[in-house]
Amino acid sequence: MPRPDLIERLAVQTAERAQAQLQRRLRTIARTEGPFVESNGRRLLAFCTNDYLGLAQDPRLIAALKQAADESGVGSGSAHLICGHRREHAALEEALSEWTGRERALLFSTGYMANLGVMQALLQRGELCVQDKLNHACLLDGAQLAGAVLKRYPHADVDAAARQLRSDAEGCALVATDGVFSMDGDIAPLPELAALCRQENATLMVDDAHGLGVLGDHGAGSVAEAGLSERDVPVLMATLGKALGCSGAFVAGPAALIDGLIQFARTYIYTTAMPPALAAATHCAVMIARNESWRREKLNRLIQRFRRGAEELGLPLMPSRTAIQPLLLGDAQRGLDAARALEDQGLLVVAIRPPTVPHGQARLRITLSAAHEEAHVDRLLEALAALRLEKAPV
Ligand SMILES: *Cc1c(COP(=O)(O)O)cnc(C)c1O
Repeated sequence: MPRPDLIERLAVQTAERAQAQLQRRLRTIARTEGPFVESNGRRLLAFCTNDYLGLAQDPRLIAALKQAADESGVGSGSAHLICGHRREHAALEEALSEWTGRERALLFSTGYMANLGVMQALLQRGELCVQDKLNHACLLDGAQLAGAVLKRYPHADVDAAARQLRSDAEGCALVATDGVFSMDGDIAPLPELAALCRQENATLMVDDAHGLGVLGDHGAGSVAEAGLSERDVPVLMATLGKALGCSGAFVAGPAALIDGLIQFARTYIYTTAMPPALAAATHCAVMIARNESWRREKLNRLIQRFRRGAEELGLPLMPSRTAIQPLLLGDAQRGLDAARALEDQGLLVVAIRPPTVPHGQARLRITLSAAHEEAHVDRLLEALAALRLEKAPV
């Protein structure tokens, strides 16, 4: 028997996915303008970015990026530990630790890499990592990369998390959760998880990718909103590519955590530092996100307007008070059909299908932003009403 060809096998898997109507397709966006995007020559009103505060196109960020690029060039030139760590990175790390009320902060090039690096640095082979079933894929991958024993508890079920922790009461243990769940929009039971970790001597890690900038006083995130300190949540991670409108991520916590990550987190050590101009733009975004509370207030008004309207229409809303407002449709094909019908009406909303969400739980993942206006939300509601989603079986 000849050895099977890897690429041919991959092609078979791709064809199977297409057969199951679960193929993913790239869409090229030609331009963006506020909440509008231009795609295939059409202007669409988008409800699918994670730019929750409307900062991605803010002229002040663009000016900061340009000015820093003029002074420092484009690429950082190397990894942080060689000579890529610039003053723009250091200043951003300081601003992030201050904002989140943590002793120190450390930049990573992406959130995916931050989570892989933290888990691989903290956990040793065979140690326990307890996670919410709906955590972001990279938290799950991180535990696997570390060779940890990964136990996933039913969504937000703290009692189940307690049982999983007690199954191995001797060794080190990490409990990791999204602060705001990326496909559901609900918030983790953070005070209960913190109490559990205190009781069981486990370390709590929160990935606040969708909470930072959006929740809490001055947008300090879901952990701050829950009134939890660095002692309660020693490992706080968040991304810079969502509410901050930039790209990258950071981990914040006690100095011992950050110093250890610099030594041992492979996704920190063996990669090029983010462009310093991007760090400068992100620093500008942090200042705006902290100070311009009107953005959060506007976003919350839009969220309430959307939920009120969707309730009146009997739409299958999920229990979320964040910028992520999914409509649960169930069947993947139903999700696709709805997204297509919305696009016909000039709206860009993306259907999220398995394996990103569990089978039978396909949904329209609607995200709102301070870049939207009330009239935009009303237009979305009108288009949704025309789909008569409430009539179809769930
Ligand atoms: C987006 C996201 C990540 C990954 O961050 P990137 O910077 O996009 O790699 C990690 N965790 C959660 C919860 C996210 O939503």
